[in-house]
Amino acid sequence: MEAIDVSDEKEEVNECPFCGTNVEETDEYCIECGTDLKEQETCNY
Ligand SMILES: [Zn+2]
Repeated sequence: MEAIDVSDEKEEVNECPFCGTNVEETDEYCIECGTDLKEQETCNY
């Protein structure tokens, strides 16, 4: 059987701030655009 679980929300899912793709919380980079999903603090330069 092929079941597509769409409304199954078990783990927290983050969204890419760049393309809006749903990415896992453990993902460091977006699987779509490769945007850095890690905590981005203010760059001090
Ligand atoms: Zn993305």
